[in-house]
Amino acid sequence: MRYVFVTGGAGYIGSHACLKLKQRGLIPVTLDNLSTGWNDAVKFGPLEKLDLLDREALRNCFSRYKPIAVMHFAALSHVGESIKEPIKYWSNNVIGSLNLIKETVAANCRHFVFSSTCATYGEHDGILINEQTPQKPINSYGASKLAVENMLIDVSKAQSLNYMIFRYFNVAGADPSGQIGELHIPETHLIPSAFDVISGKTKYIEVFGNDYPTRDGTCVRDYVHVVDLIVAHLLGLEKLLAGGKSGIFNLGTGSGFTVNEVLTAVEKCLDCQLPVIQVGRRRGDCASLVCGSRLAFKELGWHLSRSSLEDMIGDAWQWHQASNYRK
Ligand code: UDP
Repeated sequence: MRYVFVTGGAGYIGSHACLKLKQRGLIPVTLDNLSTGWNDAVKFGPLEKLDLLDREALRNCFSRYKPIAVMHFAALSHVGESIKEPIKYWSNNVIGSLNLIKETVAANCRHFVFSSTCATYGEHDGILINEQTPQKPINSYGASKLAVENMLIDVSKAQSLNYMIFRYFNVAGADPSGQIGELHIPETHLIPSAFDVISGKTKYIEVFGNDYPTRDGTCVRDYVHVVDLIVAHLLGLEKLLAGGKSGIFNLGTGSGFTVNEVLTAVEKCLDCQLPVIQVGRRRGDCASLVCGSRLAFKELGWHLSRSSLEDMIGDAWQWHQASNYRK
């Protein structure tokens, strides 16, 4: 049996990784404490309910499954919350990851794929961000992810551990099959928050800040479809399994959209009018985060197939209407 551990496999991006692993003939084993993930999202392989802070439970899983690789998605990921509760972020994201890396090495499992973020770069307004852009995170979420990147790079120098580090820009959309998608409680992300308004769960969408140095004053983000994002992970994993060397890749499209542009696209795609309220800036938000790298295209043979705003909104809306996850 070719098992791959997927931490956070009950969450949005991790569940899409499980689906793709299964399609490639591997068995995804979800390791998840279900703090933010969903039992119902674990459809493609076994679930081991555990917390990464529990090393005994982790060790037990490694000895039972003997995975050929680890894909590590489990993390707290809200910028605003991370500023208010940094200890929670350092503990969960950094100590949890350290435990996972320790047990991966102890089990002689040699391939590690890590879900990192463009939030590790911090403020670089007006420039396109590539892998060489200095990493100066401005919030505890970005700082905790950067610490794990450094841990992995450092450990791999001394141990036979290879890694793929993927720094995501903004992930959106859902698998077109409608089986899995994005659901957070409370919802904070832009596109699903707009859907909550359309489906009557909330009354209006707040736009955070209109005085940024961008074309319409609202923040610019680079949105990439979750299915495209996961294809890059599989390409990276296959490269490691084939004996390829470790790598660090930004995953984004190279095109940025303002908050207003995204909301207008939602209105157009779903033929609706969104009640919008302009409010002040959200703490921890950078004006612009756009990927300026084609390294993943060049070195992994990655290409984008569904990352237009229309496809991301359409696929996410299809999932949103059908979603009925439970814990
Ligand atoms: N945003 C907004 N209103 C919302 C949610 C998000 O104006 O209800 C903005 C947010 O300030 C950021 C962009 O939309 O500029 C994307 O935010 P999201 O939380 O989706 O992702 P993040 O960039 O924080 O990872």
